[in-house]
Amino acid sequence: MAGARETQFPQRTPIRARVDHAVIIIGAGFSGINAAIELKARGIQDFVLLERAADVGGTWRDNVYPGCACDVPSYLYSYSFAPNINWSMTYSGSAEIQSYIRCCVDRYGLTDRLRFGVGIVRADFDVVGGFWRLTDAAGRVHTARAVISAIGGLVEPLMPAFAGMNEFTGDIMHTARWNQDVVLFGKKVVVIGTGASAIQIIPSIAVQVADLTVLQRTAPYVLPKLDRAIPSGVKQWFRRLPWLHTLTRRLILGLTEGVIGPAVILNGFMAKLMTRYALSHMRRVISDPALREVMTPDYQVGCKRVLFSSAFYPAITQDHVHIETVGLERLTPGGIRLADGREIDADVIVMATGFKVNIAKSPFPIVGEDGLSLEQRWSAPGGKAYKGVACAGVPNWFFMLGPNTGPGHTSILIYTEAQASYIADAVGVLLNQNLTALSVKPEVMSRYHHKLQRRMRRTSWTSGCKSWYLDEHGENHTLFPGLASEYAWSMRRFKPKEYDLRA
Ligand code: NAP
Repeated sequence: MAGARETQFPQRTPIRARVDHAVIIIGAGFSGINAAIELKARGIQDFVLLERAADVGGTWRDNVYPGCACDVPSYLYSYSFAPNINWSMTYSGSAEIQSYIRCCVDRYGLTDRLRFGVGIVRADFDVVGGFWRLTDAAGRVHTARAVISAIGGLVEPLMPAFAGMNEFTGDIMHTARWNQDVVLFGKKVVVIGTGASAIQIIPSIAVQVADLTVLQRTAPYVLPKLDRAIPSGVKQWFRRLPWLHTLTRRLILGLTEGVIGPAVILNGFMAKLMTRYALSHMRRVISDPALREVMTPDYQVGCKRVLFSSAFYPAITQDHVHIETVGLERLTPGGIRLADGREIDADVIVMATGFKVNIAKSPFPIVGEDGLSLEQRWSAPGGKAYKGVACAGVPNWFFMLGPNTGPGHTSILIYTEAQASYIADAVGVLLNQNLTALSVKPEVMSRYHHKLQRRMRRTSWTSGCKSWYLDEHGENHTLFPGLASEYAWSMRRFKPKEYDLRA
């Protein structure tokens, strides 16, 4: 637990260069805050969090569309060291998660470390001084001996450039840039996409709109979601017996690791069971054979993210909700035209089209040793990042939720906690030994990468579907090809011998 290892690493004043801070964390979402908590737990006090927006929260600040919630159970979608027994629902909504994050900021005394409105656009490593020079959008320079990049992987909305976008006279909004001022009541609405965001928004708005057309390109696998209010009696029990809460959390983790994980990662027996379960869930709700056919996925379960909702199928069986699988030809002034020539009137178009994935892409120029940028390093063969947190030739720079560290089956916070602890240990070594550079050895990174990609070939993610998990070459640099507990175990100790340490 964070907080248990107070002052493990006494700090020394940097000897080689005057820098603004020992550590800069970029991003104040769940992972950046996790990293800050771990730094503090080790007595590393000289750090700031630079956040380009005006509030903490990342995903949960930005995603406020109707029905936005987490599809990981609340007790697991919270830091293990900061349990919240007051969750109102078994699956929390975005507003409640956002207030949990704000509570953690207060509880761990991070408010004075936050610098809002600071968007970093460039990073350069000073090899001689052993520090990073970060330039923000306003041209200001921030320096630090170590940087923790916690910028999130699904941040920038993907807005496909459909023909006629400028002709449409109604409102267009992306799920991650929801405009609360647009009234949907009694309107004709088109939703593009049937991914994780879409299946939450569709049931939520179906009850208020006059007509809802959903454009589906690929049918998702959808499992039922036991979304219930948590009775006050349960909270009282958890308050009285905290171990019961811990046990509940472990049981949920065990379920995701023991059942959902194997089913979505590997094409084995569990995957077959999950396929049958998902299809029977669909058939229980949808009786129309034509709609059943349309909603039947044609790829291996797990290849794309498996979705959880008990409200999606009932929503699309309503008379005023229509699923269209014919492609979109263009937007028109009054709506959309489908590829078969049919025109559909719309007042509002909702783009539930996902994100520009930047998990294994350099978000801005990050120039490490030898004047080489991260983009140049990552376009060459040899690997992306060791354990997803460190890249050879980019010293003193650490990624939260970097390449190949995402889950498709459980809480992402299991991964962030493991990373935050590992990175804080690494930063402790850097500061304590007064090093100018701490950089993962290229051969260590390369060996790790090749082993990981060999495992990747056996996963459902590379079984032939198209998904945001894969890059343009069909390679998966987003997810970890194993269970969360395996990843967390591998991160339990920072091993200096795997790194080049330069005094
Ligand atoms: P997504 O899963 O990438 O889904 C995008 C949807 O838009 C897909 O149905 C996609 O079709 C469709 N689409 C994209 N471009 C299109 C185009 N040009 N024409 C027609 N359809 C198009 O995006 P998302 O739903 O925003 O979710 C992204 C990720 O965010 C999730 O996988 C998950 O990791 C995370 N998320 C999590 C939660 C949660 O509860 N934890 C909730 C929401 C999101 P294809 O499938 O054919 O590409």
